[in-house]
Amino acid sequence: MADQSQTRRVSFFDTTLRDGEQAPANAMGPKDKLDLALRIEDLGVDYIETGFPASSPSDFEATRLIAKHLTRARFTTFCRAVSSDIVTAVEAGGTANHQIQIAATGSKMHCEHKRRITPRQAVEEVVEAVGLARSFGVESVSVGIEDASRGEEDLLRPMTERAIEAGATCFVVADTSGSMTPGEYAALIRTFRAWAPSPIRIATHCHEDFGLSTANALAGLVAGADEVQATLGGIGERAGNTALEEIAALLAYKQDVTGLHTDIDLPKMYEAYGVLRRIVNLPEPRNKAIFGTYAFGTAAGIHQQGMLRNPATYEYVEPERFGRQRSILIGRHSGRSVLRHLLDRIGHPVDDGQLDTLYRIHIAEREGGDCEDLDVLQARLQRELKGCALEAI
Ligand code: MN
Repeated sequence: MADQSQTRRVSFFDTTLRDGEQAPANAMGPKDKLDLALRIEDLGVDYIETGFPASSPSDFEATRLIAKHLTRARFTTFCRAVSSDIVTAVEAGGTANHQIQIAATGSKMHCEHKRRITPRQAVEEVVEAVGLARSFGVESVSVGIEDASRGEEDLLRPMTERAIEAGATCFVVADTSGSMTPGEYAALIRTFRAWAPSPIRIATHCHEDFGLSTANALAGLVAGADEVQATLGGIGERAGNTALEEIAALLAYKQDVTGLHTDIDLPKMYEAYGVLRRIVNLPEPRNKAIFGTYAFGTAAGIHQQGMLRNPATYEYVEPERFGRQRSILIGRHSGRSVLRHLLDRIGHPVDDGQLDTLYRIHIAEREGGDCEDLDVLQARLQRELKGCALEAI
């Protein structure tokens, strides 16, 4: 593994409470947002977006509470490029430790069909809003460029350069509609980097519509972005956002090939996800990377044979690093050899006929679900075969 001092640290921006919350069925009250924000802060995230204070009294209160209780992370508020949104955000959270993120209109299509403004107006409103936020004493002012992935250079470039002159400190390059491939997104980040050199910060914001939000974010980071916007479990608009746990895991495992590292506390992520799931009543997905019920489980006999000898045969991502446990589930896909392995393990070697009988009773014809945990089956076999002559089974 590469030495951390040789790699660039990626900073994390959590938008579970804003982009995640704005998706259908994910509404959270102020107290819930505070609970979750403290969990997320504990993971080592750098920025936590509290919501959109001007949009509702609930987001205003959530911002007020989170601003008061965070001890290490900065909080970010989402504002349109209008003065009343910025005034409200500052009323809610003050200026200390506060990053204001101003939503900018990044494509002519959005200018014409959504906003009904000219590209020139789209630039001017951002320049004014950045200046206003800075004039209040907010030191960190980010421009979140909506639909940047479908934007035109003659809109995006003047917007970026003039916002920097007005005091913007960060640009969020949003693939709002989830339209890009990793190669395209990397090129877009390089373009922005040329317009906004360091120490101006660049953040990724990717959507999952093609299932590429993590791949795109990684490509953007490798191409030079400083920060990744992500949500726990990838919740967010439509198909969702870059999943925090996926990008954190990738950065932890792939330091050598990416030249990047993360300080995210990997074992704590799953518990934070549990808090989110309880708040928004989200069932645990079966197969999601890192967080899925069976993300570290297998029911296939061919895999199990290898894993019982050495888990590394089928596990590249290790459950222990994420506070998870490996599960080997025995069912009709498991075959007889796993059963033989278990019987050997508990000191009951059997011949082929006896194995067939035990297989029929305990696996093929067992009632109650299509598979059960290896440890549960082992305990039952131990209990039932204890002192039992093999001929009697
Ligand atoms: Mn978004």
